[in-house]
Amino acid sequence: MKSKQIRQTFLEFFENKKHQIVPSAPMVIKNDPTLMFTNAGMNQFKEYFLGNSQPKNNRMTDSQKCLRVSGKHNDLEEVGVDTYHHTMFEMLGNWSFGDYFKKDAIAWAWELLTEVYGVDKDCLYVTIFEGDSTENLDRDSEAYDYWTELIAEDRILNGNKADNFWEMGAQGPCGPCSEIHVDIRSAAEKAKVDGATLVNMDHPQVVEIWNLVFMQYNRMADGSLKNLPNQHVDTGMGFERLAMVLQKVTSSYDTDVFTPLIREIETITGHSYGKTTPVDIAIRVIADHLRAVSFSIADGQLPSNTGAGYVIRMILRRAIRYGFTYLGKKEPFIYQLVHTLSKQMGDAFPELQSQKNLILNVIKEEEASFLRTLENGLTLLDSMITSIKKEGVTTLDGRKAFELNDTYGFPKELTRLILSEQHLKMDEKGFAVALKKQQDSSRTAGIIETSDWTVLRDGDAQEFIGYDRLTGDVRITKYRKVNSKKDGELYQIVFNMTPFYGESGGQTGDKGYLESANGDTVYIIDTKKENGQTVHITKNLPKEIGGTHKIMVDTGQRERTSSNHTATHLLHQALRKVLGTHVEQKGSMVRSASLRFDFSHFSKVSTEELVQIENFVNARIKEQLPLQENRSNTYEDAIKEGSIGLFGEKYGDVVRTIKFGESQELCGGTHVKNTANIWHFKITSESAVASGIRRIEAISNDAIKDFFTEQSKSFDEIKSLLKNPTKKPAESIAALQEENASLKKEIEQLLKAKAGDLKGDLIASAKNINGINFIATKTDLDAKSIKELAFDIEREMENLFLIIGANNGDKATLTVILSKNTVEEKGLDAGKIVGELGKHIQGGGGGQAHFATAGGKNTAGIDAALSAAEEMC
Ligand code: ATP
Ligand code: MG
Repeated sequence: MKSKQIRQTFLEFFENKKHQIVPSAPMVIKNDPTLMFTNAGMNQFKEYFLGNSQPKNNRMTDSQKCLRVSGKHNDLEEVGVDTYHHTMFEMLGNWSFGDYFKKDAIAWAWELLTEVYGVDKDCLYVTIFEGDSTENLDRDSEAYDYWTELIAEDRILNGNKADNFWEMGAQGPCGPCSEIHVDIRSAAEKAKVDGATLVNMDHPQVVEIWNLVFMQYNRMADGSLKNLPNQHVDTGMGFERLAMVLQKVTSSYDTDVFTPLIREIETITGHSYGKTTPVDIAIRVIADHLRAVSFSIADGQLPSNTGAGYVIRMILRRAIRYGFTYLGKKEPFIYQLVHTLSKQMGDAFPELQSQKNLILNVIKEEEASFLRTLENGLTLLDSMITSIKKEGVTTLDGRKAFELNDTYGFPKELTRLILSEQHLKMDEKGFAVALKKQQDSSRTAGIIETSDWTVLRDGDAQEFIGYDRLTGDVRITKYRKVNSKKDGELYQIVFNMTPFYGESGGQTGDKGYLESANGDTVYIIDTKKENGQTVHITKNLPKEIGGTHKIMVDTGQRERTSSNHTATHLLHQALRKVLGTHVEQKGSMVRSASLRFDFSHFSKVSTEELVQIENFVNARIKEQLPLQENRSNTYEDAIKEGSIGLFGEKYGDVVRTIKFGESQELCGGTHVKNTANIWHFKITSESAVASGIRRIEAISNDAIKDFFTEQSKSFDEIKSLLKNPTKKPAESIAALQEENASLKKEIEQLLKAKAGDLKGDLIASAKNINGINFIATKTDLDAKSIKELAFDIEREMENLFLIIGANNGDKATLTVILSKNTVEEKGLDAGKIVGELGKHIQGGGGGQAHFATAGGKNTAGIDAALSAAEEMC
């Protein structure tokens, strides 16, 4: 049975048993702090088991994309090495939410496997929970009794709490489970060893295929178990393992889920699968990881340096490294497999087809960039391994591993993995210490001595009024003196309320003034947020500390910053419109002078795209869209209404949403009242930050006027320099460049001719000193011509010692060439000679025994150097 049909048969079987077929949830989880990736079919139904909400249907079935590479379920290190674990796999499941329980779950699983799929009963074993006295839990005799109606008693095995009692976490729904295992060994092997003894023993051909979980308890905070009001069924069957059984092969990589990929890898790399173990592992790793990475990218998770993106990057890098080491692939090639994958699985998972180009490009770029670091890092790690082995040590120093990571971008996990392959370990503690040391040193670089707070008004809470007003009559709550390396002595002041925006969310802090009742003015140079307080930074304190002060935000600066912040939202919207919804914000910097926005995107943004983006933003400005602000939304409602939040950002219970037309984001920053206030938007640069991450810098508002004034000024300067009012400046410059190139060529030819003449003269001038043909000369030729000249002469003369001193403006050089026999028979060394003679020109140099050069500042010393050379013969 083909895999497509296997999947379909499962879903239809349960549909016939009144289950609703539901789609797989995304593999990458965005809004759950406890879980990065879906690792089991039940993840998307957690809320039903917890009783937080009611499902629309109490029977469901699906095929869920799972990824087990981090957290509680991490199979990464086994994948490829064994033949039945994958990073990404499909879990076929049927679910009962308070509906049917053990009897039907067991009977249907058996019916599907043995009657519909036709699995031989003699190769099946089942396990049931044996009970646990410490928990006061009895053996699951209910499940046992149901099984005895279907299968011989000696094939029903007891399982302990670790294997057969399933818990979602420290608290929550849980219950006994019953697993179905297959024994797909040959008859001869079965005759030798009883399959029952191999269940749950990590045998590659006696494996678990289906787990039926019966949720009937709730684990309470104090560790006790209570009966759930409702009983649920949660089952999960590995699709690839089922295919292995039904297609009568002994590895899930030999099923049609993987063979097209494996054939393609063979074609691309020229290696055959099934000949040697290391090559086979590499091929399995690549076929497997390609799927994991492709599905993640399709789900919107690009490889990156943090969080889920980092895990994806690590998976891909593991595949690249296996290709590099065991298949000899030094060029990107894994991306080519995306065609095969999307052809093969695109029907069941259309996102693979619609995002094929994105997936392909991201993988290709990642491969190229990692291959560059890999070569350097691997060589270094190899030499580290050799040296620790020599010393008889089994652990690599954490500092060394950190150096590999820090200097060569060589991932820690990879170092750990390579070491484990050689039965070595990495000193994890040492690594952590080195990392912390580096972080501390960069953190303390600018920092400061702080004195204690002087508190004037204890318990005064601070109120932020800066969304509505730019001035306020305030009192000082507390202040303190700080010393920074950069700015010297400063003061930090906290007021009872403030219109000043403290630096956060990428937006810089406000500047402004404090005016005391007596007319005293203090400049507020910056505003920061610290432990939930807004701290104002000044160079001095007001003379009168008590009493009321008027504080005023610098309105011009605030307006320009707000303009850039709103422009950033419009830019974000434009990027998603023009480039696609894979664009996600990866960082931003909003200042009064300019804005910067980093986002995930796989290739350079073309000039045409940049124009479209700019036009899109300017069109929104022209539309004069008013600010629509909601300060008291719940996070869930905001997301439901289509607001964009930042991945990895922590949001409170109440969030603020900012809307301009169709742009809608969760945001705490300040904004213009109407997009018309931005005046105009201009992109000033587009660049790469990391592979898959681009950066756009742009300006708005007043900065636009300065920008165009500056541009037009320099254009006028160019025009006046070109002194050709009739021709377009670009044409004039092109003509100049052409002329310049041809003059360069002419000069080169002239120099060559000059050197040619010189060569004859020099050969004729050779002095025979102690059997050495000594030639010394002074010239103003350039370095390249001198080198050519020296080698030309060396080709024609034996026993040569040639020294050329050159005077190029304010720079002196000495070039020495010795023929082979001068070096060997006379024991002379050009490197040492220039080292010695370099002193005369106040410089130094070096090279080989045969040829060496020195450079220095003292052109007047050239003659002395040449005479000293003669003495050396
Ligand atoms: P194993 O002990 O083989 O790792 P498991 O106990 O981790 O399996 P469950 O968490 O019960 O497995 O998952 C349910 C089913 O999903 C398993 O019966 C198996 O068929 C499948 N499965 C689990 N992990 C993987 C994996 N890494 N690759 C492929 N299939 C898997
Ligand atoms: Mg497992």
